[in-house]
Amino acid sequence: MYLCAQIELAMDIKDSDTVIAAATQTPAGRFAPSPTGRMHLGNVFTALLSWLSVRKAGGRWILRIEDLDPQRSREEYARQIEDDLLWLGLEWDEGGLDDRGDAAPYRQSLRGEIYETYLRRLEATGYTYPCVCTRADIMATQAPHQSDGRVIYGGRCRPAKLPCVSPAENLTVRHAVRLYVPEDEICFSDRVYGQQRVSLAAECGDFVLRRADGAWAYQLAVVVDDALMGVTEVVRGNDLLLSAAQQIYLYRLLGLQPPSYAHLPLLCNQAGQRLSKRDSSLSMDRLREAYSPERLVGYLAWLAGLLPEPHACRPEDLIEAFDWNYIKPQSVITV
Ligand SMILES: [Zn+2]
Repeated sequence: MYLCAQIELAMDIKDSDTVIAAATQTPAGRFAPSPTGRMHLGNVFTALLSWLSVRKAGGRWILRIEDLDPQRSREEYARQIEDDLLWLGLEWDEGGLDDRGDAAPYRQSLRGEIYETYLRRLEATGYTYPCVCTRADIMATQAPHQSDGRVIYGGRCRPAKLPCVSPAENLTVRHAVRLYVPEDEICFSDRVYGQQRVSLAAECGDFVLRRADGAWAYQLAVVVDDALMGVTEVVRGNDLLLSAAQQIYLYRLLGLQPPSYAHLPLLCNQAGQRLSKRDSSLSMDRLREAYSPERLVGYLAWLAGLLPEPHACRPEDLIEAFDWNYIKPQSVITV
């Protein structure tokens, strides 16, 4: 894991040794669902592979509740997620609603002060700047459209040179805090998709760390949480492959060791649509009515390429033979 071109940083970070470099720690993986509805088959696929990978490595599995969106997150959904994981046989060692573990709290909604501390550290690098653009400004001045509909910030509030000198707290206007990204490419090796090269400036643009309404951006929260929780391996859907480059950049600015990444093919229905919480047919309440946990686990293991045919099994039966080489780097798997 490295940056292709070394970025010179005006870093003023002295106490990042409070976080032990991930490489020297015992393996730890995490499942980090948003409690915004019942889990579907795709969420369970991610949970199973993350659990197997970390169990094979003899590490800890952490359950983190990503409830940053207060409008859509509900504790009742988090309880259902926990119940579904236990039904499947996917027990966690740390985290969850009862906050078991040294890195508590494990709910993002309770970690605002921690994010604030790390935002200050990033501001001290001189790479952040206040952005006063409204959504309409951003749409009107965005960089050329991306095929997948991503909006790339056009740089309206970007300072002409580094370090950015206007600290955000001196600005009385409501503003987001945005991070300056360099022209350099970020390179990393994904355990499923292999070597990746991402030009942050061209493919992501300067991104937000804290929104104007005070909400924390996913990229900041996830990096801080993974670092403080000692996560050494991240397993998640391939829709977050580009995010890995943004997150590696944040790790670099904070002087922290990034985890390894394994992105997974997305599960799609027969119509080619990605499964979502809106599809009720493959949500856990329906699946639990129709199948035993062993059949569901066996089916998912077969989809992943871990079994030659779908036969009923428990998660622990799959640990010994688990190997990332079985997961093919296809973009989707049809269920
Ligand atoms: Zn702006």
